[in-house]
Amino acid sequence: MKIEIATLFPEMCEAVLSESIIGRARKAGKIDVSCRQIRDYTLDKHRRVDDTPYGGGMGMVMQCEPIYNCYKAVCDEIGTKPHTIYMSPKGKTLTEQRALELSKMDNILIICGHYEGVDQRVIDKIVDEEISVGDYVLTGGELPALVLTDCIGRLCKGVLSDDICFTEESFFDGLLEYPHYTRPEIWEGMAVPPVLLTGHHKNIEAWRHEQSIEITKQRRPDLLK
Ligand code: SAM
Repeated sequence: MKIEIATLFPEMCEAVLSESIIGRARKAGKIDVSCRQIRDYTLDKHRRVDDTPYGGGMGMVMQCEPIYNCYKAVCDEIGTKPHTIYMSPKGKTLTEQRALELSKMDNILIICGHYEGVDQRVIDKIVDEEISVGDYVLTGGELPALVLTDCIGRLCKGVLSDDICFTEESFFDGLLEYPHYTRPEIWEGMAVPPVLLTGHHKNIEAWRHEQSIEITKQRRPDLLK
């Protein structure tokens, strides 16, 4: 699995992607994630990548050419067209299910917008899907791209120690996860649920499943439908 992130802030993305589980998986060659500076693909001598919007209005719009040239460079390097995603509040909201499907693809290019967004023509020409991280607006596509990369990355083979690390988690089977406890057995007068201390795996599994259903009913009844 190879993910390329096209951004105006590659250092910001690199800082996050070099840490923790994803950072270690990259070093170990379990996933290949890299960032491209969109400005490197502009032909403008001042390295400009944006301009004022036709029709007037606030803010600047990212131009087609640098993004298209960046996309073409990726295509040339990998020898095929990557599945191209534009991070956008207008996209479909990211789900665990979609991340799982994306984790099975070989090549993904994620485009991060900035300012008012990106000229619609380059979106129409190269983008396969638009993904949102929620119904709110951020200043740029970098944080959404990092959310998507982290979410896809942890689902790739060998990134987590075992598939069970994600198959038992919230959303994977349509439920929210059960609560967790660790030492000490009693903290601030609150005890760990006794069943977890019995070592009886079947009972523990049943208790956890009940808890999952209960918490999903309370917090996300929409998931149970
Ligand atoms: N004018 C756009 C609109 O109203 O839909 C918002 C542009 S936003 C300030 C700049 C960039 O941040 C977008 O092009 C997109 O790449 C990214 N972005 C902002 N919010 C996002 C979200 N909820 N999900 C995914 N990307 C987002």
